[in-house]
Order: sequence, then C-alpha cells, then structure tokens
Amino acid sequence: MTEVQLQEFKLDPDSELRFEVESKNEKVVLEVKSGYAELFGTELVKGKPYEFHTGAKVAVFTWHGCTVELRGRTEVSYVAKETPMVIYLNVHAALEQQRVAAEQENTRGPVTMIVGPGDVGKSTLARILLNYAVRMARRPIFVDLDVGQGQISVPGTIGALLVERPASIEEGFSQQAPLVYHFGHKGPGENLELYNTIVSRLAEVIAERCENNKKASTSGVIINTCGWIKGAGYKVLTHAAQAFEVDVILVLDNERLYNELKRDMPKFVKVVYLPKSGGVVERSISQRAELRDARIREYFYGKRTPYYPHSFDVKFTDLKIFKVGAPCLPDSCMPLGMRAEEALTKLVAVTPSPALHHRLLCVSFAQPGDELALHCNLAGFVCVTAVDMERQTLTILSPQPRPLPNTILLLSELQYMDNH
Ligand code: ATP
Repeated sequence: MTEVQLQEFKLDPDSELRFEVESKNEKVVLEVKSGYAELFGTELVKGKPYEFHTGAKVAVFTWHGCTVELRGRTEVSYVAKETPMVIYLNVHAALEQQRVAAEQENTRGPVTMIVGPGDVGKSTLARILLNYAVRMARRPIFVDLDVGQGQISVPGTIGALLVERPASIEEGFSQQAPLVYHFGHKGPGENLELYNTIVSRLAEVIAERCENNKKASTSGVIINTCGWIKGAGYKVLTHAAQAFEVDVILVLDNERLYNELKRDMPKFVKVVYLPKSGGVVERSISQRAELRDARIREYFYGKRTPYYPHSFDVKFTDLKIFKVGAPCLPDSCMPLGMRAEEALTKLVAVTPSPALHHRLLCVSFAQPGDELALHCNLAGFVCVTAVDMERQTLTILSPQPRPLPNTILLLSELQYMDNH
C-alpha cells in the first residue's frame, strides 16, 4: 500500500504552487486551508477538497497569500514567485475597458485571438481571461480552433461555447449546448481547405448569434488556436483573424510570430506580445495522444459525473456514412468553373467495412441530400466498436439509445478503443 503524502505550502501574495500528477491511477487532493487562491482564474473554495488525477498539471495562484494542503503523491510540487499573472490581469483589464465602451456605444465587445507555438499556455490563458470576464458578470464566447488539443467537445472538431459561469476546477467549462463543427483530423494541415471553410462558417454563425444576444456581443469572444504557426500554419491563423474580424491578437512567447503579425495585420488590430509562464509543461507526442483519448472517453463516460452510454447494432443499410474530401485532381481535369480545391470539401459516401472499427462517427444536424452539410453543426458522436461483415451490421457506442437519428454521419480519422 502506498502511503498518503501530506504537504502544506504557505504562499506569499503573487505567487503560485505548481504540481503535476504523473503516476498511473494516482489521485491528489488539494485544499485551501486559509486565505484566497484561484486555479487558472477560477476561485477555490476554502476547506473544499478538489481531486486531480493522472496527467494533471496545475498551478494554484494567490493574489493575497494563502495556505494550501496537498494529499497524495505528486510528481513535482514547488512554489514559484515569478509568474506573468499581473501581465495577464492587465490584459483582462484592457479587454474589460473595451467591453464597457461597447456597452455604452452599443457596439461589439473585443474579439481576442490567442496564438503561439505548442505548449506555451494558450489554452490556459484563454481559460484565465474567460474566467475573469465571467467573474465580472460578462458572458463571453469561447471559441476553440485547436483540433488536436481543444477544450470543447472531442478532438477533430472546432467549436464555441457561451461561458456563463467560471470553469469547474475539475471538469473545465460546462459543455452544455456547444456549437461544434466537423473536421475529422488531428491537425489543420490534413485538409486546409476544409479547416478554413469551417472556421469561416463558425465565425459567421457566432456573428449572427451575437446580433440576437447583446450581453454576449458586448462581452466579446476569446479564441484559442493551434500551435502550428509556420508556413501554411501562419496562413491558417491570418485566415481565422480575418474570418472572426479580431480586434486583439495575443502572441505568447514567439517574437517572430509577433513581428509577422504586426507587419501583416491591418492597423486597427492590436497585436500584443506576452511572456509565457515558466510553469507551462511541455507534452510529448504520446502524452498528447493520451489526452485526446481521455477527451473522447470523457465524452462517452463522463469525468467526475459518470455517464452511461448505450451499445447497439445498426444495419449497414440503415446508415449513411460520408467522409469529407475527394481525391484532388489537377484543375485541367475539373469540370468547367470548378476549382480543384473544391473537391477537398466534397462529401464522399463510405461503404461500411472493417476499416470503420474503433472510428468516431460525427452525427450531423444535416439531412441526407443537404448540399451544404459541412455548414451544419454536430449533434454528437458515436464510436464503432465492432463490424460484422457477415450480418452486415455495426456495433455502436452512443450517448443516446437507439435508433440513430436519420442524418448524415461524418467519418472522423480519430479512433477510440472502448475497453471500459
Ligand atoms: P497546445 O498548443 O498544445 O494546445 P497550449 O499552448 O494551449 O498547448 P496549455 O494547454 O495551456 O498550452 O498548457 C500546457 C500544460 O501546462 C497544461 O497541462 C496546463 O495545465 C499546464 N500549465 C499551464 N500553466 C501552468 C502553470 N503556470 N503551472 C503549471 N502548469 C501549467
């Protein structure tokens, strides 16, 4: 039996306790004993135990000083006095000023995009800024364009949420009614045409929704992006900036990207350079894969609140599965007036086969025959857990009981092995 370790930390004002939980099946419990502390912008309740599991990389920050207790085995745990939190708070204050002005002038609040290479704390900064905004009674929109390590829905998608309360310490932002679009790959480079199409579509829908929701409109938008910043990755970022008509771009830890954006963005876009926190932890390729897997598992089985998915068989004939993207032919071979790139956003029917085993299928709101199926958001996801070629059926793991809705199912490249 492993001994439960107990550690107590006294934090001075403006410092943070950083810890990681690495060992398998390990659990660490955090409790604030006195004073005030927050975790990536969410206030911690004094005396309340919070649980963290394998893979958690956490910072407990305090503006006023506090005493914190950790129970359980941590990989590392140390107190850091150097943090960029004051700078991040200043960014929040500047955005807040723009929100006040938007309210007075009945205009749109600040649309802010966070960019930078991988593992510089982009998602964390988005979470901090959203939490600070919602704690000031704002209702900002959170957009996550990171198809690999995003915080909305499952990997292989982009999405948006209206943030109405601070992120839960253990479960993140509430995932009620997110707006989600299918991409189907782990990185935008797999199909740039499709990626840009769905980014533009998401921007369009958010602009429409803001017209009918003044509170959200004046609160503004915070956009998280992928860590791919060079070559075509840079073009993807500038396209997103244009699509969302961003007002502010926060560049984390990359001077080259900062200078490129300063050069290329129109003058009214404020490009701001920010340092990264020394606490941000780099993740290996295998850790990233594990995180993606964990997000899919959470979708079906829940995190702290358990979910109970259904498993049932569906006949091949009752399914309409499509993948996005036909092989790209040279322009000279295309019908008159059609660009070769258009093939990349075409729906192609998929014949069920053993290759579908473990694959995710996205349940679209689009009906069969819908020309603009990709412009429809997603209702949810199912996972193929078995393919029976003899009986011509698929076994499916689904959050909802049978039958599957009569809609288009979009095939994702992402896989999930259900061994629950
Ligand atoms: P990616 O480009 O891969 O999406 P990112 O730039 O969005 O990465 P984050 O996901 O924000 O980076 O951070 C990477 C990891 O570092 C996360 O597990 C996060 O919890 C952790 N982290 C962030 N800030 C701190 C901190 N100050 N102390 C300890 N851990 C931190």
